Amino acid sequence: MLMRTGKNYDLGKIRSAYDFAAELHKGQFRQSGEEYIYHPIAVAEIVASLELDTDSICAALLHDTVEDCEGKVDIELIKKKFGSEVASLVDGLTKLVTVPFEDKEEQQIENLRKMFLAMSKDIRVIFIKLCDRLHNMRTLDAKTEYKRRLTAHETMHVYAPLAHRLGMQRIRQELEMLSLSYLDPIGFNEVKKDIESRYGKNRDFLEKARLSIAEKLTESGIKFSLEGRVKTVYSIYRKIYFQNKSFDEIYDFYALRIIVDTEPECYFVLGAIHDMFKFMPGRFKDYISTPKANNYRSLHTTVIGRDGIPFEVQIRTWEMHQIAEYGIAAHWKYKSGEKSKDEVDKKLEWISRLVENESETRDPDEFINALKVDIFQDEVFVFTPKSDVIPLPAGSTVIDFAYAIHSQIGNRMVGAKINGNIVPIDRVVKNGEIVEILTSQSSKGPSRDWLKIVKTGEARTKIRQWFKKEARADNIVIGKGEIDKIFRRFNYILTEPQRADILSKAAKRLGINGPLDDLYNAVGYGGLSATRLIPKIRDEYEKFIKVEAEQTTLIPQFPVKSKPQKSLSGIIVEGIEGGGSIEVKLARCCNPIPGDPIVGFITKGHGLSVHNINCSNLKQNRQSPDAAERFVSVSWDDSMKPDWYTVMLQITARQSTTLLLNITALLAEMKVAVSGINMPKTNDGNVRIDISISVRDVANAANIANRIKMISGVYEVTRTMSGRRNEGSNPAG
Ligand code: MN
Repeated sequence: MLMRTGKNYDLGKIRSAYDFAAELHKGQFRQSGEEYIYHPIAVAEIVASLELDTDSICAALLHDTVEDCEGKVDIELIKKKFGSEVASLVDGLTKLVTVPFEDKEEQQIENLRKMFLAMSKDIRVIFIKLCDRLHNMRTLDAKTEYKRRLTAHETMHVYAPLAHRLGMQRIRQELEMLSLSYLDPIGFNEVKKDIESRYGKNRDFLEKARLSIAEKLTESGIKFSLEGRVKTVYSIYRKIYFQNKSFDEIYDFYALRIIVDTEPECYFVLGAIHDMFKFMPGRFKDYISTPKANNYRSLHTTVIGRDGIPFEVQIRTWEMHQIAEYGIAAHWKYKSGEKSKDEVDKKLEWISRLVENESETRDPDEFINALKVDIFQDEVFVFTPKSDVIPLPAGSTVIDFAYAIHSQIGNRMVGAKINGNIVPIDRVVKNGEIVEILTSQSSKGPSRDWLKIVKTGEARTKIRQWFKKEARADNIVIGKGEIDKIFRRFNYILTEPQRADILSKAAKRLGINGPLDDLYNAVGYGGLSATRLIPKIRDEYEKFIKVEAEQTTLIPQFPVKSKPQKSLSGIIVEGIEGGGSIEVKLARCCNPIPGDPIVGFITKGHGLSVHNINCSNLKQNRQSPDAAERFVSVSWDDSMKPDWYTVMLQITARQSTTLLLNITALLAEMKVAVSGINMPKTNDGNVRIDISISVRDVANAANIANRIKMISGVYEVTRTMSGRRNEGSNPAG
């Protein structure tokens, strides 16, 4: 077995892996007729040539044992004999399969490659797999025509691009060359023959050119790196068949690359080259002063060698070289908007750099550690039954999968199968699984619980959209219930109009301008979460309370004595300006205050009495025969300067020692004048407190009542219309 370097290989372990594999494969033969063990040996040799570690070489030797020697060996046995590292590599290799694919779109093939990487968990698995594939390609002749095509196709589209991205250019070139020779044998042989007939007899031509240039540059004292490159059959084939170039238009079949330290040195080298060789007009490109769109910078020129053969020379600095080799543009293409892009790119670039570095400068430990990385830890890739690959965030469930296919699939989903077996719908999908969604036309649609199960925003949005559209009536009920809970939780006791006002203001701030049902619907289907709504409700509620409280506290003078109510003339009587000469007084039975709906009643000998229209006394008056003449329309005169009115609030509350204290403290804080407190006996075990206070108007009274309602233990606060007042302690008299 080939061992290039004298590094710290555990030869004893490798030997026993070989013995074990040889024993297991004994009696097995490849289609070519040779003993099977030659294949794992060949793979291990390629792995060793990449300078992978002992465990990788052992895994390469054992890579086909679990699959091909069933019953004789399993992962557990390998773990026992060779340790968990070797076992997990062999396990990865055994599970790493692609499905046959032909005529897939580029995006699908891209997903396949990514899935391949994701399934490997450890990049060493991919490296060994590439070596395995290389040997299979080298010995593909033995297979059937159909199998050859399939394998070559897969190699060209999955394995070769992966080798490229992982910096394994020699393996990539060989994979491409072999694939092409099976996919288009005629085209391949044509190009190959052409190359040989043109350049075949000049095999050492490039080496001659390289030596003469090196000599010249050494003379001038410049530090440089100089390497020659012969274009591969595949890259010429691409130019001819994909870019429609004729063979005569390909001038860079031979190319030399010169790398120097500084930019001025680039131009110096260019001059030196043009001194030595005749250059081809129109082939000189200065990408240093005018970089390509992808930031590529270099000088390109094509010159005619001494044997009349043109070759391209690329001149660049080391910095330009790094960008050209590892630049973002040259690498992995992703769908836009995928957030894992940068991280994956960086990891692959790093690995690629480590691979391409010469072995002298490469730290073997760092190299192997880099390969142990699971690049796609945030993503999983699963198959549809039609073998399309669907990428999903790690942790996605079959519901996420269903919605990733189509919202109609998700909405009609009634169950799911993974690899042919029925699974629960909250089952998390794993790399490489085949997921099938069972749908039914009679499905009632998604369940609200799904919102808690799904992982992807896409699925969540689509489920919510369904609820938004399909279940508005239910959503409104659910949403209203949710919002009621919020009001209860914060003990906000409000009248229905006040509550509606606060809610619609809060809704507006969240962009919901329609009727309140829209808000309930949004909360119901989950489009608007309580966590977003609560702060807005609290804020609006606080504003409301503040406004109401200000109306009370703004009053400059604390009223010691209310004016007698009969002297008030803040009433406009229809037809008589300012009440005219008629004596107007507020009825004592219902005690109206500004803001109350009122009506005037002409009393016999006592002028006009103003009642709340709901006053029970009015009912009797309406029945009197001359009632129609005695009722007069009246309204509050808003232009009058505010005055004080006495109202009575009836409070029902739970028995508590601090209740009265809390109420009086609140009223003192709000600067409300209390003119009487009475606690009538009750039979129901609750406390009743009747309290007479001075207020400006209805809003003022409602605000005070609302604040009292917020006191713990208070069940109800109502304003009694009854004029019964505690005359003794009422400052208004
Ligand atoms: Mn194999």
